[in-house]
Amino acid sequence: MKKNEVLNRRNFIKTSAIGMVGLSVSGSGNFASEENKKGTSVKPRIKKFNILGRTGFKVSDIGIGTSRVYPVPVITALLDAGVNYIDTAERYGRGASEKSIAQAIKGRDRKSLFITTKLHLTETTSTEEIDKRFNKCLGRLETDYIDCLMIHGASSLAVLKNKNFHLAVKKLKAEGKLRFTGVSNHGTRFGRSEDVMKKVLMGAIDDGRFDVLLVVYNFLKRDPGEKILEACKKKNIGVTIMKSNPVGRYFDIKERIEQLKKEGKEIDTRTKNYYDRLKETASRAEFFIKKYNLENSEEIRDAALKFVLNNPNVSVLNLAFNNFDDIEKMLILSGTKLSRTEKHKLNYYAHGLSELYCRHGCGICESSCPENIPVNTIMRYNHYFDANGSEKFAMQKYAGLSGLNSDACKKCSGICERSCPFNVPVKGLLILADHRLTLG
Ligand code: SF4
Ligand code: SF4
Repeated sequence: MKKNEVLNRRNFIKTSAIGMVGLSVSGSGNFASEENKKGTSVKPRIKKFNILGRTGFKVSDIGIGTSRVYPVPVITALLDAGVNYIDTAERYGRGASEKSIAQAIKGRDRKSLFITTKLHLTETTSTEEIDKRFNKCLGRLETDYIDCLMIHGASSLAVLKNKNFHLAVKKLKAEGKLRFTGVSNHGTRFGRSEDVMKKVLMGAIDDGRFDVLLVVYNFLKRDPGEKILEACKKKNIGVTIMKSNPVGRYFDIKERIEQLKKEGKEIDTRTKNYYDRLKETASRAEFFIKKYNLENSEEIRDAALKFVLNNPNVSVLNLAFNNFDDIEKMLILSGTKLSRTEKHKLNYYAHGLSELYCRHGCGICESSCPENIPVNTIMRYNHYFDANGSEKFAMQKYAGLSGLNSDACKKCSGICERSCPFNVPVKGLLILADHRLTLG
C-alpha cells in the first residue's frame, strides 16, 4: 500500500469509526470556493416549511441553533438559503451570539424571520430584572421585537410558575416587543435530570401559557421526547429540537489510551479494564463501518438528523453550523426522507453501539456518586467536543465547572455505572473526557 493510501485510510478511520460522525470543523471560505473544489454550482436550500404550532408561523424545517457565536457570513448564507428560524440566548457568547445575528438580519424583511432568545431565570427573578434583561437582548439583536422568549433550561415547575415572568411577558407583549413564550430544558446539573426534564416540559404543556418548546430528541433518546411531542401536538404547541445527533466521535479512544501510556500516566488494573471495555466497543464500531461500507463519516449523522426531520410532530430541527462546509453538508437534508437502509443503520447502531451515548438530560446515576461529579453535564461537554465540533467551547465549559474533583473517577470503582440503565461505561468515558477537555 502506498504511503498516501495509508494516510487516507488512517484519516478516514480517525474521522469515522467508533463514533463516526463528528461534524466537520474545517472549511472556512464560502460556497463559491467549495463549489470550485467540487466543480458544482448547486447551493443547498431549505425545501420544507412547517407550521410552528399555535404561533401559525411557517418555519424552515432546519433552524439555526446558535449556542456559540457564528461568523456573520455563515448566518447570512443560512438566511439566504431559506432558513428563517433562529434560536439564540442571552447567555450564548455572553450576548455576542445575539450581536452577530443582528448583523446578519440587517436589511432583511423582519417579518419573514422567527427569532427566539432565552433567559435563565429562578422562581423569584423579578419582573423588573426580566424586563431589563429582555430589553438588552432586544438591543443586541437590533430589532423592534422578539418572536419568542424562552425560559432557558427551566430547572423546576416553580420557575415556570414565576408570576413575575408572566407579568413581564404581559407588559412586553402590550408594548409590542414580544409575541410568544417558550421553555427549554436538557436536564439539570445533578440528580434525576431525566425526571426533571419530563416534569418541566410536561408542566409547561399543561400550564397552557407557553407556545413553543425546545426539546432533546434523537434516535437513541426517544423518551421522553416522543411523549412530549405527542402532548405538544394535542395542545398545538410548536416543537423545536436540539441534541439530535447522539453519535460522538469516540474512535480516538484507542489512540488516547496509548497516548496516556506514552505520557507515563499511571493506569491501574481496574482502570485498564474499563479501557479494554471501551476498546472492545471501538472495534465493534469499526466492524459497523465495514459492514455498511460507509463512504464517509457523515452518513450515519445524516441518518440521525433525518430521523428527527421525519417526525411529523417536529416543527424545527436546530443545528449548529460552524462554517460553510456544515451548511453544504447539512442543509441538503431539508425535506429529505429516511431510507430503509438508513433505518437499518440506525437500528444496528442503536443495538450495538448505543452504550457509548450518555443520554442528554439523563443524570440517573449522579445521585450515586459520592464525589458529586456532574456526570451528565461532563458528558454533554464531551459531546460538544465530539459531535458538535466545538472543541474550544467544550473545554471552556469544562474549565468552568467549579469544585470538580477530576481525579476522583480514577480512584473509584465506578459506582455510577451500576445505576446506569443504558450500560454506559461512563467511568472510562469520564477519565478520557477529562484528558481531552483539559489537554485537547
Ligand atoms: S466513577 Fe466514581 S467518582 Fe466518578 S462519577 Fe462515577 S461514582 Fe463518581
Ligand atoms: S451514565 Fe447512564 S445513567 Fe449516567 S447520566 Fe449517562 S446515561 Fe444517564
